[in-house]
Amino acid sequence: MKILVIGGGGREHALVWKLKQSARVEKIWCAPGNGGIAEDAECVAVEAGDISGLVALAEKSAPDLTVVGPELPLVNGISDVFSQRNWAIVGPSRKAAQLEGSKIFSKEFLLRHNIPTAKMVGAYDASRDAYAALNSVDWPLVIKADGLCAGKGVFLAPDADAARQFLERVMEKNELGPGGQRVLLEETLEGEELSFIVLTDGERYAPLVPTRDHKRAFDGNKGPNTGGMGAYSSDELLPVALRDTVISTIIEPTFSGLAKEAIPYKGFLYFGLMLTRQGPKVLEFNCRLGDPEAQAIVARMDFDLAEVLADVAAGKLEPAKLLWKRGASACVVLASGGYPGKFVVGKRIVGITSIRDNTGVQVFQAGTRREGDSLVTSGGRVLGVTASANSLEIALKLAYQAAEKIHFDGMHYRKDIGGHVGRVTAAGE
Ligand code: AMP
Repeated sequence: MKILVIGGGGREHALVWKLKQSARVEKIWCAPGNGGIAEDAECVAVEAGDISGLVALAEKSAPDLTVVGPELPLVNGISDVFSQRNWAIVGPSRKAAQLEGSKIFSKEFLLRHNIPTAKMVGAYDASRDAYAALNSVDWPLVIKADGLCAGKGVFLAPDADAARQFLERVMEKNELGPGGQRVLLEETLEGEELSFIVLTDGERYAPLVPTRDHKRAFDGNKGPNTGGMGAYSSDELLPVALRDTVISTIIEPTFSGLAKEAIPYKGFLYFGLMLTRQGPKVLEFNCRLGDPEAQAIVARMDFDLAEVLADVAAGKLEPAKLLWKRGASACVVLASGGYPGKFVVGKRIVGITSIRDNTGVQVFQAGTRREGDSLVTSGGRVLGVTASANSLEIALKLAYQAAEKIHFDGMHYRKDIGGHVGRVTAAGE
């Protein structure tokens, strides 16, 4: 099997690493890839959002399967374009990707199908209507820019002044680009968050192991939001009773809603959940694997990912094939100094080779590139040090021990990944 993977972050490195382990796989291309992926696949300089460039690449290299990592090509319709040519692809249609590409589309979908979610105050495309709505809401209030905004489109407004300022920035000054032209106002939910991701071929689905990510930059959930500073997976995150509730009140109604509306979906569907006192509710959908959740999930896979993804593309998913290592996994992200604000790239990374042979530890690379014989930083999130073990405690210990051996100027990482384990059961009751 020859496989094309689209994307160039830690998630894609994890996917490539796992796909390469399959005896069926003889070749992997990655577009655009990164310094670490280049060791496991042939990187091709085509950006993930460049649909015509990717079509040209697939025409030339004729992969048997294409696997899409990030949301942008999906929202831009890559799955439709490849499917029209009968090219096997794992990734939802443009219509289905609207579940992530438009917060208003996804909220209306949730409401139409009675799936538990935060109450909507309203959706607005004129700022004066949004300002007027602020007169009769409870605080804090959640404001969401409708379109893709690289993780900057959600604001928890403590009061009307802060809400007005945010609305002005996104709707009048267009600081987030076209994604901020329309906004959604909704109730604030309280509880612990949980990422529940399923793999589907449109007919059947298989849940992946549960994960939780850490979005804030610093320990104790302080500092600005980031793309994700770490994640962990453990079966304890999702007790059986909670899992049953999530499946019956959220997952099943979502798939029957997609079927009723004839929206085809092949790929990963990510349910961002808030475990509230009233039960689990949907915060958001993503039309792909999370990053760094993917790294923690891949570390626990005990099946042939290439075979299962080929089944998905062919509409023949067999959920029983997805077997998982018992225990837990953790991914600690090592970031550039200053990230998620301004940071300098080109810093030399040392120490990775010393942990290559450690059992249970894998360093997935994100913002890296090769410069001669050296590996240097090229982005905000640089590496995801990932470990799996029989318990979360040991997985975390292994990941942190490995992280200590790595160095680049300005490197920072959170020391409390996975620190919340055990509190979830109470929140989900
Ligand atoms: P989203 O992209 O919609 O998931 O929002 C990003 C983050 O904002 C989520 O992971 C939550 O931490 C937070 N968030 C979104 N919606 C709500 C809500 N209704 N109540 C509380 N927090 C929220």
